[in-house]
Amino acid sequence: MSKLRYERPVIKKLETGMPNKFGSRTEYEPVTQIDGVSVKSLISEYGSPLFVLSEKTIRSSIRKAKKAFETRYPRVQFAWSYKTNYLNAVCSIFHQEGSWAEVVSGFEYDKAIKLGVDGRKIIFNGPDKSEEDLTKAINNDSLIHIDHLDELYTITELAETLKKRPRVAIRVNMDTGVYPMWDRFGFNYENGQAWDALNKIMHSGKMELVGLHCHIGTFMLSASAYGIAASKLAELAIAVEQKFNHEIKYIDLGGGFPSRNTLKGSFLPGSDTNPSFDDFAEAITTALVNSNFRKERLPLLILETGRAMIDDAGFLLGTVVSNKRSSTGRRNTILDIGVNILFTAFWYDHRITPAQTFTHYTEDTCLYGPLCMNIDVIRESTTLPLLNKGEHVVIHNVGAYNMTQWMQFITLRPNVILIDLDEKPHLIRSREALENIISMERTPEHLSNIG
Ligand SMILES: *Cc1c(COP(=O)(O)O)cnc(C)c1O
Repeated sequence: MSKLRYERPVIKKLETGMPNKFGSRTEYEPVTQIDGVSVKSLISEYGSPLFVLSEKTIRSSIRKAKKAFETRYPRVQFAWSYKTNYLNAVCSIFHQEGSWAEVVSGFEYDKAIKLGVDGRKIIFNGPDKSEEDLTKAINNDSLIHIDHLDELYTITELAETLKKRPRVAIRVNMDTGVYPMWDRFGFNYENGQAWDALNKIMHSGKMELVGLHCHIGTFMLSASAYGIAASKLAELAIAVEQKFNHEIKYIDLGGGFPSRNTLKGSFLPGSDTNPSFDDFAEAITTALVNSNFRKERLPLLILETGRAMIDDAGFLLGTVVSNKRSSTGRRNTILDIGVNILFTAFWYDHRITPAQTFTHYTEDTCLYGPLCMNIDVIRESTTLPLLNKGEHVVIHNVGAYNMTQWMQFITLRPNVILIDLDEKPHLIRSREALENIISMERTPEHLSNIG
């Protein structure tokens, strides 16, 4: 055992109701390595800040999710939500695990095709699909999830000109008891828009109606909302079957399951309270098997889980730039991690751990980023041991949305590393350089000389 570091004695006011006499401690152990690779060595080799993804955790999450659904329902298919994290290495892991691709733009669609995904295994969602995008999707026999009537009519026209029978579903929005309701995408169930769209598709005879889709929200903390959604989609599918003698091949419940993160303002940590894959699987599959589908016509169940599949596999490593005191005496620690690369700091109280041994003395700390912007706050208030300049921190559960929503603002975006199953790190996205940014700029002739 190494020699303990000297800590100066402190007198602290006892606060009744606090978990212990030092106040609410967040961490008792440093996190010095990720999947067997030391944080220090990663930072010295790849720089700071640094995103790190664990292939082991990604694979174990998708396997857990698949098991939860496949043990309860005979036909299940996952589709990877590209916008959650569309780094090629990440998408490839999901495709290797059997996931289809779920995309919400022409750019994401092209990315999936370029990665080699079979067009028939691409689900095309989103409110803005251009004619060019739709033409590609129709020619590749992809699954097009219609968002509004304008799109429905465009597809009807394209089917005619391309002499194809596009495979379509509609996106349905509905009241599941969770508010505010996400009703801006797709067709509403309660007011009859969805039934109307289904009738229009069936009567046009130009498209093959293959599925029904919904995506009721994100970071949903209620499994029962999914039971309601599944029942409503099943009801629509059975109504189509009865009226048109037409089989709906799949029901797609979208994404929205929470990761283990803690939403700001929550009393208990998300890792203790958020529902699990099993909770959601139980609610959804119970609703489907209890509905009136005949046994031989039980639809395929598609899930587009994003966040819950990758958030917990992502880490952001960073370094302390400085410590200072606020005007009221509170400790302010400045990190080299800004909100431009950690968007989710706006929604979550991320778990943050020191990456080296630390003292038992803790203090209420505000963690700032390096940007010269007042909003650049990683945590407004958290109890942490003292972190010295040059020491490192690990921010946990950052794998979802940060590597797609990050922006190049004031600083450049950092390297992204994937640690494989043999604990070997791979660079999967290089850090940006000044040249990358200015290569897209064009300076008019009269401004080329700044004297
Ligand atoms: C974003 C999105 C998903 C993934 O959502 P998560 O909340 O990350 O699980 C799935 N389907 C659609 C249509 C989406 O827009």
